Amino acid sequence: MSFITVRIPEPQTVNLNRVYDAVVVGSGAAGGMAAYVLTSHGLKVLLLEAGKKLDIDKELKSTEWPYEHPRRGEMAPGYHALSLNEYTIRQPPYAQGTKYQHVYSYVQGWSGPDYSKNIVVDERDHPYTGTNYAWVRARCLGGKTNIWGRLALRLSDYDFKAKTHDGYGEDWPISYQDLAPYYDKVDLYLGISGVKENLPHLPDGLFQRPLRLSPAEMKLRRGIAKMDRVLTPYRAGVTTDGLKHNKYRLRCFGRGACDRRAGGCDIHAAFDSPTGLIYPALDTGHLTLRTNATAHEVLVDPKTGQARGVAFIDTETGRSYEAKAKVVVLAASTLESARLMLLSKSNLYPTGIGNSSGHVGHNFCEHVMGPSITGLVKELVGKPRTLDDGRPGSFYLARFRNLATRHPDFIRGYGFEGSGGMGMFPGNALSTPGFGSNYKQAVRDYAGAFIHLGAFGEVLPRYENYVEIDPTVKDRWGIPVLRFHYKFGDNEKKMAADMAETAQEMFETAGIEIVSVSRRILTEGWSIHELGTARMGTEAKTSVLNQYQQSHEVKNLFVVDGSSHVSASCQNPTWTIMALCWRSCDYLADQFKKGNL
Ligand SMILES: Cc1cc2nc3c(=O)[nH]c(=O)nc-3n(C[C@H](O)[C@H](O)[C@H](O)COP(=O)(O)OP(=O)(O)OC[C@H]3O[C@@H](n4cnc5c(N)ncnc54)[C@H](O)[C@@H]3O)c2cc1C
Ligand code: SF4
Repeated sequence: MSFITVRIPEPQTVNLNRVYDAVVVGSGAAGGMAAYVLTSHGLKVLLLEAGKKLDIDKELKSTEWPYEHPRRGEMAPGYHALSLNEYTIRQPPYAQGTKYQHVYSYVQGWSGPDYSKNIVVDERDHPYTGTNYAWVRARCLGGKTNIWGRLALRLSDYDFKAKTHDGYGEDWPISYQDLAPYYDKVDLYLGISGVKENLPHLPDGLFQRPLRLSPAEMKLRRGIAKMDRVLTPYRAGVTTDGLKHNKYRLRCFGRGACDRRAGGCDIHAAFDSPTGLIYPALDTGHLTLRTNATAHEVLVDPKTGQARGVAFIDTETGRSYEAKAKVVVLAASTLESARLMLLSKSNLYPTGIGNSSGHVGHNFCEHVMGPSITGLVKELVGKPRTLDDGRPGSFYLARFRNLATRHPDFIRGYGFEGSGGMGMFPGNALSTPGFGSNYKQAVRDYAGAFIHLGAFGEVLPRYENYVEIDPTVKDRWGIPVLRFHYKFGDNEKKMAADMAETAQEMFETAGIEIVSVSRRILTEGWSIHELGTARMGTEAKTSVLNQYQQSHEVKNLFVVDGSSHVSASCQNPTWTIMALCWRSCDYLADQFKKGNL
């Protein structure tokens, strides 16, 4: 069932004899934003997307009840989602040597994986090698934004000027002031829900109606306020009031359906790139879209050293094509954009396009996850049912470490995501002993009384954490794959130990009984927030891009996704990816019109 009744615009026919003003590679948060901003400036844009254009509403089927699905949402036999243990005891490529016909990343292990199996890639077709890494990829129009968790946070000068603050790494070539107007534009154009808290390290946005906290969450919020720590309703990249300027999206119905499966909102209240950015860009008449088009090389004009277009393979037929453009914009996601740059070797750029610094693929960073806590709010046991999961997110607990004071063991910080209260399926049913009516009563009595927190911490960017092209292994289309060299370091391990300690301290202070604490660090990659493989900077020797995500050495090459981030912060990256991309594309369009590109 589709909730959107307006006609989805038909893409124009691709004309590969034409020189487009810009070719954008990838249609997720970054590529969608680049297409939207560049077409709004009147540039003729060709958008290449490796995956299919799915009828996403038919994939997600959010109104379907579990019993309406033949396997209650589970994938068919022969389909397998990787587990945490597989990621740690085996080496990539993870599909190699398994008996399964189809192998998926761990997110397919979440409830209702049959609904997202066409969105997330099959590891058999898309292998990678090297160190353990849980790499989650979505190949379809809109990329990972079709199933993202929607937590939409801003970074602050504690992130942009982190080196000034603690001496480690590099500062970004921009400050919060440079990006704040673009965060505002993203908030207003795409919609965000939240509550203003006036925290310098977690800047407020232009929020629509906030989500309600459950009674258990309110107790924790009040309890930790005594410690000067802030729990705020989920800052959701969701329009709760509606957007008059976008006919492809509706305001949030508050059914919480986006939390029941691997994510995704077929009402399109939660931001996704197709309805939020690509369909509006198609409406300008300036966008041409080519799906099933896997880019594998940025083409170079040997006379000028400038990019002249992109070579791509039709993923269905295997045939190769060239798309010509005056400007090339890479937005294939952090690791795929780095892969493309490294694959684009020529006489002029023997180590990959834009890589004379040797930094492409390096300074790879993300968020460390694992430490978590579950608690019981005793006074809620036996209370009448409340509707707590009819919302697109629960809460965020902001960073508090290494702001005004210094922790002796580690630098940078972490925040927590969490939730508490009643859900459609009471999770405690699985751990409650007994049977019969007493069992059912016990499950009901306790169902809304639990609260859970899980941490996300900043991983420091390090040159020695990197990806490179594997010399032998290729993907299904014959394109060489990435080899990972990536490990958490001492700072991350000490930070993770602190996460478990402070989680307990907060529950104790708030008067919440601790049920369980996990100190285990999850495999590298678990956060799905990979960043920093083509970082920005002022020095061409130590960075790949300038402050406008423009290659230092190839002026008509821009890389507008998370690969440009100089450090990971502990705040989720997607809102920053889009704000930065908007800023860069305004600059790109201005330079284009001045004839500088
Ligand atoms: C389950 C989940 C939960 C998440 N939760 C959050 C959250 O709460 N908050 C947050 O900030 N972030 C979250 N994220 C991360 C967020 O989705 C990403 O930060 C964001 O989508 C990155 O945008 P992107 O455009 O760089 O990449 P993507 O969205 O991955 O888009 C890249 C696109 O490029 C295409 N592509 C790749 N290679 C090629 C090629 N060679 N040629 C052509 N096309 C190519 C892909 O098919 C894809 O469509 C989550 C992600 C997942 C999966
Ligand atoms: S709760 Fe809101 S964001 Fe989530 S699926 Fe429903 S409408 Fe979409």
